[in-house]
Amino acid sequence: MKNPSPAVDRTRLLATIERLAPRMTEILSEFVAAPSLSGAEQPAADFFEGALTELGLESERIVLDSSLIEGMPLFSCPCDPDNGRYNLLARHLPRMGGGRSVLFNGHIDVVPTGPEALWTRPPYVPWVKDGWLHGRGAGDMKGGLVCALIAYQALREMGLQPAGTVGFNAVLDEENTGNGTLATVHALQNALGKAKLSDFDAVLIPEPFGETLMRAQVGVCWLFIDITGRPAHVAYMSKGVNPIEAGIAIMADLKALEAEWNAPERRHPLFRDVEHPLNFNLGRIEGGEWNSSVPCTCRLGIRFGFFPGTTAEEATLQVTQRIRATAARLDADLTVEINARGHFSPGCEYELDAPPLRMLAEAHEKITGAAPKPLACTATTDGRHFALMTDIPVTVYGPLARNIHGIDEAVSLDSMKRVAATMAQFMADWCGVEPLD
Ligand SMILES: [Zn+2]
Repeated sequence: MKNPSPAVDRTRLLATIERLAPRMTEILSEFVAAPSLSGAEQPAADFFEGALTELGLESERIVLDSSLIEGMPLFSCPCDPDNGRYNLLARHLPRMGGGRSVLFNGHIDVVPTGPEALWTRPPYVPWVKDGWLHGRGAGDMKGGLVCALIAYQALREMGLQPAGTVGFNAVLDEENTGNGTLATVHALQNALGKAKLSDFDAVLIPEPFGETLMRAQVGVCWLFIDITGRPAHVAYMSKGVNPIEAGIAIMADLKALEAEWNAPERRHPLFRDVEHPLNFNLGRIEGGEWNSSVPCTCRLGIRFGFFPGTTAEEATLQVTQRIRATAARLDADLTVEINARGHFSPGCEYELDAPPLRMLAEAHEKITGAAPKPLACTATTDGRHFALMTDIPVTVYGPLARNIHGIDEAVSLDSMKRVAATMAQFMADWCGVEPLD
């Protein structure tokens, strides 16, 4: 490996990022305006492909084919058909080379907006106020992907380019399953496309966790619980069995299990100081037919967290046993069918001592004047694929956002500038730079 190239002038880098700030806002606004619910990401894929092309980067399409990845350990049962959907993997290849490489991996899908009336402005009509860009996906995580593009563009505006391979992997289906990144890892491992796993010796996931460096994340699983009771006229309610009331009781017992798992003595050491690390969420409920009928059915959609070191199978088994025990206690006539669909995602730890991650922390310190804080994250990210399935050092590092998955989601533009500058500094330090073609 050649010696890394001379240091990039930091004053000039920061001035370049500042000059690119209006462009950064413009790209992110157009990206947010391209709706991309999990399962329907095409508008955002089209936009991102264009943004990569503008930077001279050609994208390879990695098609999500569940039949190729369903045997892999991190596969989650899909919530949507594959429908020919694809990730975009673009690579910058150095002219002279000899530098080390990095892959930026981010998801383009977003979660549902909820009622538009709750938003100050429509969720796919981005607006800027007080330095925050609002809109669904602005923070989670189109902003982070745009930071990576601006970082790369900044080096180019300075007449430089990375002296190692830099990959940009924009994936689908992170919010439901993580199968998008799994498809890319599978393709890279099996050299199914132009890019190979050995092309990359560091991975950064620019999820919006406020410029922290992630050192661990919880596991996350979803379950769908279909409860069938015994319908009856409410005048003779005692003859019926109410599955909606059973669902409420099941959730109450799951909250007791959540408290057990969060107990101080049962905590994973990296989560000891985290307030309530494991969250059990009743995210959806459907059921019933008529106000004056004891209902027939109820469906719950739940999400639960668990600590790294526990497998998704073990966690799901314990939750399933608790659900069945509650149903049996309530009424022998209740039928409960439980399906694991969506996230089946174990937790993981990140080795922040690995050379590229130490260098990322140093780059952050060069730009901001302070070391980044480590984060034990109470959500899942696609970092787990690389942490659990490859030897490539990986962490999560991205801008400050607020109200992600909520109303009036927004990302801080100042934070995006700092993250873009840190990423450019990191590419210069880790990959080295060479004169632009
Ligand atoms: Zn995200």
